[in-house]
Amino acid sequence: MNVHDSERMSGLLEEAGYVPADGEFADVIVFNTCAVRENADNKLYGNLGQLRQVKAANPGMQIAVGGCLAQKDRETIVRKAPWVDAVFGTHNVGALPALLNRARHNNEAQLEILESLDVFPSTLPTKRDSVYSGWVSISVGCNNTCTFCIVPSLRGKEKDRRPGEILSEIQALVDDGAVEVTLLGQNVNSYGVEFGDRQAFSKLLRACGQIAGLERVRFTSPHPAAFTDDVIEAMAETPNVMPQLHMPLQSGSDKVLKDMRRSYRSSRFLGILDKVRERIPQAAISTDIIVGFPGETEEDFQATLDVVEKSRFASAFTFQYSKRPGTPAAELPAQLPKAVVQERYERLTALQDRIAAEENAKQLGRRVEVLVTAQSGRKAGETHRLSGRAKDQRLVHFSVPEGAEAPRPGDFVTVTITEAAAFHLVADPAGPEDYIVRRSRAGDAWDRSQAESCGVPAPGAGSGKAGVSLGMPAIPARRA
Ligand code: SF4
Repeated sequence: MNVHDSERMSGLLEEAGYVPADGEFADVIVFNTCAVRENADNKLYGNLGQLRQVKAANPGMQIAVGGCLAQKDRETIVRKAPWVDAVFGTHNVGALPALLNRARHNNEAQLEILESLDVFPSTLPTKRDSVYSGWVSISVGCNNTCTFCIVPSLRGKEKDRRPGEILSEIQALVDDGAVEVTLLGQNVNSYGVEFGDRQAFSKLLRACGQIAGLERVRFTSPHPAAFTDDVIEAMAETPNVMPQLHMPLQSGSDKVLKDMRRSYRSSRFLGILDKVRERIPQAAISTDIIVGFPGETEEDFQATLDVVEKSRFASAFTFQYSKRPGTPAAELPAQLPKAVVQERYERLTALQDRIAAEENAKQLGRRVEVLVTAQSGRKAGETHRLSGRAKDQRLVHFSVPEGAEAPRPGDFVTVTITEAAAFHLVADPAGPEDYIVRRSRAGDAWDRSQAESCGVPAPGAGSGKAGVSLGMPAIPARRA
């Protein structure tokens, strides 16, 4: 969600006439902060401290701070770093250009934080990071009260966007060349709670299936408590909804889940995975797990290991619990010593790495279709492999056989998996017959965006403002 918010900030600034610094000295620096991870404030103030001298040496330079930490810390930021020019929160991203202008005009820091959303952020200009794949917000905020989580107090209650608006934004993205969208929300499967339709999310998935040219639909994150069978059915029956599911477990201990105020229990969680695998056998399931929640005993931790063993996750985001001031869990008495948490964390990651390697090994010899991404692996310089994502979101590094056509980011290749590791797969085709490229509209859009970034207008390049869209379809100009 923060990455998508950053795309909006870039879009707003470009609409207001700013251009990316692209390695040149930047006149404006915007920090989009996150308060979910530990030490966000230390990192922010460390960065701001480093910029103090830079700003002193360059009068006119401006610094803005937005996002969750700004929403939480507010005037503290201007007090601790009075050289900051603008502070804005999660509910008023759209104010960024105006705050910068006002700060310049009034020659004083501008602080503006709203307590609730006034404009749904997806109606703001957005400078998309990718032409082939886009984030689409379906809701913001969360009605749950997980005791470790700062999100409800910073993002507010759940606000649902109307289905028609969401589908229009997806259509506009597809018209611009995208072949993949990821539906975003703090709790996607409670989508519809605001307008009273409990099946709204499954209906939305099925509606995405009707959009011609949209080849891959993903979503993040669902919540196990509200994950209903109609969503599993919609996933199974909608061909462009990908066989992939991110389902946050957090803990395998029912006692810890209760303390976390997560309203499902481990048996329900495992039941969901069984149902998903029954309907979508090739689904890759990933998760989030917190180790060392206050009061977690060795027995509780063993319950997490047991659920992880049974769940066979393709991958997991694992976190060591750390206090977030302002959350109920931060006040719980039985905070665990760091050494205990670290030791459990290492046992958990060792187990999950083994499972991920075993699950990936099952992919050997399989034919997979890969959506080629612009980013390559760390070793791409030596291996000359390109990278992309399989339908189940597994990362695949592949080589292009000599003399075969190289794909562009946004194109698809079909290859056979020849090597497997815990975090990626490799496909080295034996020859051109083992390698199929499918050029796509997204690859064409990539070509256009590259040509435009070099200042060369490309055929069919539209407005020339590549990447900044209002999230809604453009009204075509009337013909004379
Ligand atoms: S459901 Fe997710 S966003 Fe909502 S309170 Fe729980 S962890 Fe936070």
